[in-house]
Amino acid sequence: MDEFIQKRARPEIFTLKPYVPGKPIDEVKREVGLDDIIKLASNENPLGPSPLAIEAVKKQLDQLHIYPDANCFYLKNKLADQLDVDVEQILIGNGSDELLKLFAETFLNPGDEIIYARPTFSEYEFVAKVMGAQCVEVPLKDFKHDLDAMLDAVTPQTKMIFICNPNNPTGTIVDASELDSFVQKVPDDILLMFDEAYYEYVQNNDYISGLSYVQAGKKAVVFRTFSKIYGLAGLRVGYAITDPSIAAAVEKVTEPFNVNALGQTAALAACDDQEHLHRSLALNEAGKQYLYKEFEALGLQYVPTDTNFIFFDTGVDCKKLFQHLLQMGVIVRTGDIFGYPTYLRVTIGSQEENERFIDSLKKALEQIR
Ligand SMILES: *Cc1c(COP(=O)(O)O)cnc(C)c1O
Repeated sequence: MDEFIQKRARPEIFTLKPYVPGKPIDEVKREVGLDDIIKLASNENPLGPSPLAIEAVKKQLDQLHIYPDANCFYLKNKLADQLDVDVEQILIGNGSDELLKLFAETFLNPGDEIIYARPTFSEYEFVAKVMGAQCVEVPLKDFKHDLDAMLDAVTPQTKMIFICNPNNPTGTIVDASELDSFVQKVPDDILLMFDEAYYEYVQNNDYISGLSYVQAGKKAVVFRTFSKIYGLAGLRVGYAITDPSIAAAVEKVTEPFNVNALGQTAALAACDDQEHLHRSLALNEAGKQYLYKEFEALGLQYVPTDTNFIFFDTGVDCKKLFQHLLQMGVIVRTGDIFGYPTYLRVTIGSQEENERFIDSLKKALEQIR
């Protein structure tokens, strides 16, 4: 079998690194033997989905034998309306992860180059490598995108530049004026890929969405998702906003029923729940201030965040700390996979979860030091 794979599989698949997901709650229950686990590892909304989304999904459960709408008609129209763009500019995907892959399949050939920051979301590397494209990584500067260095990395082979804004795992945004001048300088034949998975959490006046560049007619795409503030990660719905001709090209490689029926229904209902959005944002802000205060009291450096997660320096081996926290039923993310072996990334949870996390962190640090 091994020899068969070696000889017959596309060589690109041997360049792929496995995705490291947040450890699932049930897995930790089995491993640690605890029943009460909190997961602060995947930036999920501690309030859960919008009650309107739950209600809409329940109503549709007896229709599961029917294929979903291949065109996502209602959801596309709702989003076009809310974002003030044409419906032809919207693509819906099985999570924004799928959309990233569809863009790679539409545009990338072996030998093409893509540029992204290090560390950033791992999907850009993954989807590019699947297609045999070359990955050019540009280190962050002070935990932020180094746009000058990214511009310097452009070559005639560059097809896409990814800007994760705000960036995962650091939670930082790109300054609006810096982004403006960067976008003006990027050659017109390069696709600008703005990943805005945490867009709804940003309350920073220095932020500008990539949507303004799409609207200005740049070759740009904005990726957003229902997985984070909308609390629908389990149903897998993301969307992209771009030029209609780009959207039409990507549609060509899209599977007919890529977005499941319950996902479409839940996302549509969630769009109308501004109250849930505001409650989620308020809870996140309060949790952020609480965690900042506690980190400061512990003398731990953190990166100020514009998202629902915080990247912070524990001062100790993060893998060891992760294991200690796991034993106490708290799941977080380690920084080693991002090149920061003493850092953790923690999702801002409910107040109760945040307090339990801080208590466990204090205990774990005492055990290790
Ligand atoms: C969570 C996340 C996504 C993935 O979202 P899905 O819509 O669930 O696929 C995309 N980009 C970033 C930066 C994320 O953190």
